[in-house]
Amino acid sequence: MHLDPFELHRPTSVDETVGLAAELAGRFDYLAGGTDLLPNYKMHLNLRPHLIALEDVGELTGHELGRIGAMERLADLERDPAFLAAYPGLADAVGEVATPLVRASGTVGGNLLVETRCFFFNQSYFWRESLGFCLKADGDRCHVVPQKERCYATFSGDLAPALIVLGAEVELAGREGRRRLPLLDLYDAGGDGIRRTRLAPGEVLVAVHLPPSARGLKGRYKKLRVRPSFDFPELGVAVAGRWDGARVDRLRVAVGGVEPRPCAFDDLTEPLSGRPLSDERLRDLGEAIAKRLRPVHNTFLLPDYRRRMIGVYVRRAISEAREGSAG
Ligand SMILES: Cc1cc2nc3c(=O)[nH]c(=O)nc-3n(C[C@H](O)[C@H](O)[C@H](O)COP(=O)(O)OP(=O)(O)OC[C@H]3O[C@@H](n4cnc5c(N)ncnc54)[C@H](O)[C@@H]3O)c2cc1C
Ligand code: SF4
Repeated sequence: MHLDPFELHRPTSVDETVGLAAELAGRFDYLAGGTDLLPNYKMHLNLRPHLIALEDVGELTGHELGRIGAMERLADLERDPAFLAAYPGLADAVGEVATPLVRASGTVGGNLLVETRCFFFNQSYFWRESLGFCLKADGDRCHVVPQKERCYATFSGDLAPALIVLGAEVELAGREGRRRLPLLDLYDAGGDGIRRTRLAPGEVLVAVHLPPSARGLKGRYKKLRVRPSFDFPELGVAVAGRWDGARVDRLRVAVGGVEPRPCAFDDLTEPLSGRPLSDERLRDLGEAIAKRLRPVHNTFLLPDYRRRMIGVYVRRAISEAREGSAG
């Protein structure tokens, strides 16, 4: 496996970045830490001849309690104990991404926009060629759910569920100007699974914004994976809420590592507000969430096992969040 040549561009402002993106329309990718994109390029997955590096765009760096620049490295967040204490579930998720080496380069923006994964996709060119490729790269059919319309590759970023339960918004910049939208809405629920976000062509992710109400929520992120020191999530459950004795308020749950995008369940958790969260209610909530999700056989663990673990992980995450200290 090798990297084919590409032309590297190094803008220094957001305006210059989106200007370059317009010039190179359809022929470039943004490059953040490169820990996801470059391994995919080495496997010849959807190569582009130009890369726009975001490293020198000052506005994309830095973090404080209410804002995280898209180019903040995961290691930058790990080095800030006050930030981690304010968001305990997010702290769990950051520490669960890959290895310290990957977190030293990998960014928050890259994590939110990480390519979806499937064992028919994350393979060398020759491996994929031997099967006639697939819909997501170079081919016209899906090997997981046989048809030619939709890709079922799994969203496997750890940070998105943990940020969604905090009510995070993303700030985007494009040729038309800036816009903000809830992080959950960044992911395209109606898409074909190949186009995985609602980013307009050339739009760049500038920052993640966290509302003041997110501070001091109790939270937890629980991740199921094969090798605990290394692997992408086979299931990731994030919860955040406020407890007053046994009563819960503003409980939110989001799940990643199962569907082609992260999913939230506010319609199931809002009716629980102000009520004691008994073991029975907790079990019912876990079962209701599991019923909504449809893992397919495209990662290491079998879908039936991943599905059965959803309820277990929801119960564990909520119980541990309740016991944990608020930030
Ligand atoms: C061995 C290994 C293990 C891993 N394990 C995990 C894991 O357990 N959990 C996990 O979540 N991830 C994992 N990853 C994936 C990856 O390392 C992380 O998700 C990382 O945070 C990605 O960030 P990056 O800056 O390197 O992204 P890049 O690779 O630079 O970019 C990823 C994608 O996002 C786009 N992009 C990046 N920034 C922007 C922006 N600001 N605006 C618009 N588009 C942008 C890029 O064009 C690209 O499509 C792993 C990677 C490796 C190599
Ligand atoms: S789910 Fe289907 S189309 Fe998508 S990457 Fe896997 S095999 Fe390809």
